Amino acid sequence: MFDSLSDRLSEAFKNFKGQGRLDEKNIQAGLREVRLALLEADVNYKVVKDFVEKVKERALGQEVQKSLSPGQQVIKVVNDELTELLGGEQEGLQLTKGKLSKIMMVGLQGSGKTTSSAKIALYLRRKKFKPYLVPADVYRPAAIDQLHVLAKQLDMPAYPSTTEMNPVDICRDAMVKAEEAGCDVLLFDTAGRLHIDEPLMEELSSIKEHCSPDEILFVADAMTGQDAVNVASTFDDKLDVTGVVLTKMDGDARGGAALSIKSVTGKSVKFVGVGEKLSELELFYPDRAASRILG
Ligand code: GDP
Repeated sequence: MFDSLSDRLSEAFKNFKGQGRLDEKNIQAGLREVRLALLEADVNYKVVKDFVEKVKERALGQEVQKSLSPGQQVIKVVNDELTELLGGEQEGLQLTKGKLSKIMMVGLQGSGKTTSSAKIALYLRRKKFKPYLVPADVYRPAAIDQLHVLAKQLDMPAYPSTTEMNPVDICRDAMVKAEEAGCDVLLFDTAGRLHIDEPLMEELSSIKEHCSPDEILFVADAMTGQDAVNVASTFDDKLDVTGVVLTKMDGDARGGAALSIKSVTGKSVKFVGVGEKLSELELFYPDRAASRILG
């Protein structure tokens, strides 16, 4: 993840490294390369513009730190601003032990919702929660089967949804069944479509209204870059999501989605999916991601 961006930025930094003194002119030249590297990585153009402005402002206003060369100082500013861009602090799930918690997974079809539901369930079990999986996509029998297969693989209970049921009824009844089964966190794997449509948004709003989830996680396929960011904004406008799961970060995603989502939506990436296996889920740490990008 981020490999080509990382290579491009280290090229850009060569412009700074040899400089004895930094002035507006050579900062400008170096930042032009940084700008191109970010645009090539498919970062939203407005995000890139703001980012470069901020770095320039801070780099020019820097007090000279004796321990760092001028070039190193600019690189440090880029690092700090990248961390900020990626979301600042790591944000875990906001769940309260001892009460029934609910996580609603939303996103387009194929984004990785079902897989991520099972991955998060496994993550939570390791944190001593007792997860209950809820297939709430009644439009595709394969989606229900898929979550049941994953639940079996994890030896976890799942709601016996069928395609004849109503998704809101499924989620409401599942809360009762989960408590009866001694579970304390539900994962609602909701329906996705290939594109956003109004009936789906209505259905998701209705589930939200009736079940008051603690977390609404928008699942985005990192490979779709800017599209993922646009779709995230629409879901967020309708549902006020609480965080993002970026999947397929093990592929050759250029990083644009990861770098734009927080500034465009204001919502943090909480997890990244880094493979098809259920253990291949990581908490997202903006500072570590920034260091990785800068190599
Ligand atoms: P859904 O339609 O949103 O429920 O998507 P699925 O969970 O069925 O995932 C769609 C495809 O993406 C499946 O083949 C998953 O194995 C795959 N997938 C999901 N997450 C990841 C990931 O982090 N990395 C990789 N490489 N594949 C993933």
